[in-house]
Amino acid sequence: MEQMLALWSRLEKGVQNWSSFIQPIAQADVLRLDQLHPLISGNKALKLYGWWQTYAREREERTWLTFGGAHSNHLHASAAFAQAMGISLVCVVRGYDEAPRTSTLLDCEAMGATLVFADKKTYARRYDSDFQQELAERYQALVIGEGGRGEWGELGCEALASACQGYDQVWLAVGSGTTALGLAKGLAKQGCRSEVVGVNVVSDQGAMLQHFKDEMPPRVPWQLIEGAFGGFGKVPQAVREALERYDALGLPLDPVYTAKLFLAYEQQHDATKRVLLIHSGGLQGRRALSL
Ligand SMILES: *Cc1c(COP(=O)(O)O)cnc(C)c1O
Repeated sequence: MEQMLALWSRLEKGVQNWSSFIQPIAQADVLRLDQLHPLISGNKALKLYGWWQTYAREREERTWLTFGGAHSNHLHASAAFAQAMGISLVCVVRGYDEAPRTSTLLDCEAMGATLVFADKKTYARRYDSDFQQELAERYQALVIGEGGRGEWGELGCEALASACQGYDQVWLAVGSGTTALGLAKGLAKQGCRSEVVGVNVVSDQGAMLQHFKDEMPPRVPWQLIEGAFGGFGKVPQAVREALERYDALGLPLDPVYTAKLFLAYEQQHDATKRVLLIHSGGLQGRRALSL
């Protein structure tokens, strides 16, 4: 609980004064959300904060259930969050119990989470509301979407908007799009004109583009760069090199999201624009690489 109170006070300080998390690089500023908390990393802290602050606090459930892969930043952050809050967490993990545990899953268990493995076909039902209902009843749990997605996750990310004053563009990596949409909604509420530039790290045949078209608030300028760099979770050589280059600058990146964000930025930025890059965290995922 103490750890959590410290997180809230850091978050609230951050929200009032994001400048303490800004690191300048050659032509841009970086917002180091990876530094919000040692375990509850990056944008996942904001989403969980959103869920907790609004929806969950008023409800009875002392058990939460959520979904993720064997290296999931979201499962890792959720397990740390749940432990600090005295909530039981059930992680529905894509994979098999017989497979060797990843460092991420070992941490989740050490933080008290219960792992329930789902084969590919079962895991594919994770967005299905009947399936979610069934799980909610079976485990008497509040179900949180994969990656912390959903309305409440977005709400937590609206707080990012106050970091964006004075920048022409705000760049961030896009998985479920929850962070980008929350940011855009926060910008709309503040009447801030920064453009949201999302780098889609998932090869989804235009699904995210459609989702953004449907959901982006009308007056916020945005673009989506389809820069999958080998597909979700794939780590091509360019990504490994980017990790090394940014390590040397004292800016550790993760291989799944932020390294691809920075690569897309290097290739496509417009040097006349003032840019903020959001470092959305996820450094625990680096353990999956043998660097
Ligand atoms: C989950 C995650 C994202 C993707 O965020 P969405 O809100 O799902 O788009 C980006 N970066 C990191 C490091 C993440 O862990």
